[in-house]
Amino acid sequence: MRNLTWLAPAIALLVAAGTACAGEGDPRPALQVRRLASLYGMKEEKALPGGRTEFSGNGHVLIVAPLCPGALMDGRFIPLDPPPTGEAEGMAVRGNALEALTEALVAAMVGPPPAVSVPAPAPSASPAGGPAPADDPPATVRKIVIDPGHGGDFDGARGRQGLLEKTVTLDVSRRLADLLRRHGIQVVLTRDSDRHLSSNLREDLKRRVDLSNHESPDCFISIHANYAASPAVRGYEVYTGRPEAVDERARPPAAELDNASRRLGADAPDDPSTRRALFHALQREFRSESRELAESIRVSFRGLPTEDRGVKTAGFYVLKWAEVPAVLVELDFISNPEVEKRLGNPTHRQELAERLARAVGTFDRELAKTCRETR
Ligand SMILES: [Zn+2]
Repeated sequence: MRNLTWLAPAIALLVAAGTACAGEGDPRPALQVRRLASLYGMKEEKALPGGRTEFSGNGHVLIVAPLCPGALMDGRFIPLDPPPTGEAEGMAVRGNALEALTEALVAAMVGPPPAVSVPAPAPSASPAGGPAPADDPPATVRKIVIDPGHGGDFDGARGRQGLLEKTVTLDVSRRLADLLRRHGIQVVLTRDSDRHLSSNLREDLKRRVDLSNHESPDCFISIHANYAASPAVRGYEVYTGRPEAVDERARPPAAELDNASRRLGADAPDDPSTRRALFHALQREFRSESRELAESIRVSFRGLPTEDRGVKTAGFYVLKWAEVPAVLVELDFISNPEVEKRLGNPTHRQELAERLARAVGTFDRELAKTCRETR
């Protein structure tokens, strides 16, 4: 096999020469994965489910997906930090991820032929940033729990014109549920009317999570609208659970431990410390999937007439105890009079629901599974 290590500096030159594509907020120059792969003789490109793309050539196979924190090179997991971004010209990598991928390509070209075969892709391909569920229902999200924030005694935030957060969250959730159901996804709403689940706030939140854990969906989305003292603040935010919110010494309720064990495919062990370890392993596993779902939503919300305030972490109760990939979406700031007017408009709420549905369509658990299995 030819020694191709000389190509590594060539990549650096290419990037420096300004052939890189524009980043999204990240100032570091990026390079299209397609371009990088082709330098190493991998010219065949194939779209796989979940927005993944397979590059092949010279007997090697590379699988990359936008926002996936890793790539598969001949079945070997290559961590990519930051994850590849989906750009108009195709997926791009930057910074450490660009270096890691280049190194992996070089190693693959000069090393022995691949020993691990890459599993055959499932049928039904969906290109990156794929179509709405209308065209291609995601095969891997079959059931989802949607949690319209607040309700009943709990109004949530109140806009300056009097619009209530609980009204907005319920309507957007119902619209989202309707869209997803039309595409064959089973939807469970934590509430389908203006009501609370308990007059005690903590118990209300607990019941939402219990309901979700009982249903064992593929993911959990809690929908909210934000509030700030300044009327100028606006923008959407997507939250995932905070890593440190998982306290290894915490004793989760027994029922949650049993569920965790079941989901990990093991019989629930009697030993409490093993059960606790299983629970925390599961929490860690869900964290990366939650992040993927959050990023899907963020990408889908781009282009709305407001600000992208990014993906964040928080120790929200519903995120901490949900036993599935879980996110909390703050649609926008109801405290901003302009936003309040928009949130009061059914057409805009339908648009929000459609964008959320698209995000669920591009969130593909199979991808996360592939990453995990090869780690
Ligand atoms: Zn809220």
